[in-house]
Amino acid sequence: LKDIKTIGQLYKSAVLKAPATDKIRHKLNPRFLDRVSLFQGDITKLEVDSIVNAANKSLLGGGGVDGAIHSAAGPKLLEECRGLNGCDTGDSKITKGYNLPAKHIIHTVGPVYSSSSKEEKAEQLASCYNTSLKLAVANSLRHIAFPSISTGIYGYPIVDATRIALEVARQFCDSEVGDKLDRIIFVVWSNKDKGVYESLIPEYFPPS
Ligand code: ADP
Repeated sequence: LKDIKTIGQLYKSAVLKAPATDKIRHKLNPRFLDRVSLFQGDITKLEVDSIVNAANKSLLGGGGVDGAIHSAAGPKLLEECRGLNGCDTGDSKITKGYNLPAKHIIHTVGPVYSSSSKEEKAEQLASCYNTSLKLAVANSLRHIAFPSISTGIYGYPIVDATRIALEVARQFCDSEVGDKLDRIIFVVWSNKDKGVYESLIPEYFPPS
């Protein structure tokens, strides 16, 4: 965890820059600058209470981050997943982490993007983040690390998806249960996705 920089630290090192004032939505409680992080790298390597898997409805493994998580966690994960009877789009289910350094995996099913039903897809993606955060709190987990759900094989445009992820996280921080998590980590894989998060984080999590 100490290698994962918080947005507070990213402001100090000028990786993140304060946004133009007209872009700031609302004031943030400054303690969340030390609780939200952006990390570029492999989510399967994180030693945290929970990582989120961008799964498919079967929960029986797939490509992308799902494949990476199943191969790193080992076959016992698949065994537990078989007993879960799949998962609806926008919903989440929790398992143990098995061979992963993470204690738990929260499997969420993102929408397959289509521009013809944008609003429904946006609600489903927001629901992925919301139900995952709820599961972490319900299981007394203190950290959650999210990959960029639906933006790989499922084709969700990265800017729109990132705005949804940040909006839900911001709402969580402003909510009554906002203090129940010590770290919310956004994990990006590509340089392009990192750039998108770096440019949008200041709008949702402005420096104090
Ligand atoms: P989806 O099917 O929901 O679109 P993908 O797994 O295809 O999910 O992609 C989701 C995101 O996860 C993409 O940005 C992809 O680059 C990223 N990703 C793939 N492997 C890893 C990994 N090991 N750690 C973190 N992110 C990853």
